[in-house]
Amino acid sequence: MFVGHYTPSFGLARSGPVPLWALFLAAQFVDILWAFLVTVGIERVRLVPAFTAASPLALDYMPYSHSLTATVAWALLLGGLGSAIWDRRGGLVIGICVAAHWFLDLLVHVPDLPLVGDRYKVGFGLWDHPALSFLLEAALLLLAVGVYVRGARRALPFWSFALAMLAMQSSSFVLPLPETPTAFATMSMANYIGLAAIAAFLERRWG
Ligand SMILES: [Zn+2]
Repeated sequence: MFVGHYTPSFGLARSGPVPLWALFLAAQFVDILWAFLVTVGIERVRLVPAFTAASPLALDYMPYSHSLTATVAWALLLGGLGSAIWDRRGGLVIGICVAAHWFLDLLVHVPDLPLVGDRYKVGFGLWDHPALSFLLEAALLLLAVGVYVRGARRALPFWSFALAMLAMQSSSFVLPLPETPTAFATMSMANYIGLAAIAAFLERRWG
């Protein structure tokens, strides 16, 4: 899942003092960690064209970023950090954004998400139904943006941002893939950081 991960970020931004950019990073924290661990060779992925209809990622080994137990531990840790920086409510929202990543991934991944360590892998496999998984992510994102813009000074910039994110997501169907797992991980990391920077800009001006 890509843009659907931002559902809790937009949906919960009004529930606490945490800025949108931090909720963007929290929602993708385990993927940012995954990209780093792939780059340094600790977690493993292969790029297999048409591995699932919507994604080429054969995610062989990712216990530290994407097991349920690790995700819960990261959510607690970052939630604690969030309460120290902002307040308890802010920490709770951060923790939810971090943890929600795993449950949203669960919908689309084929069984490659471990429950504990590298074992007991689960995934409902919506990536084998690209139209359905795209519609689900689009619906979740747009619903959450709808919640967010009710408190915004201007709604249009955020709707435009959401559409640009959906365009980014659909471009993966037509654009050529990065050639290596490291290139893919680097591209993903750049996307996550870039989107958080845009969110910061938009929220400061119109949020
Ligand atoms: Zn993920």
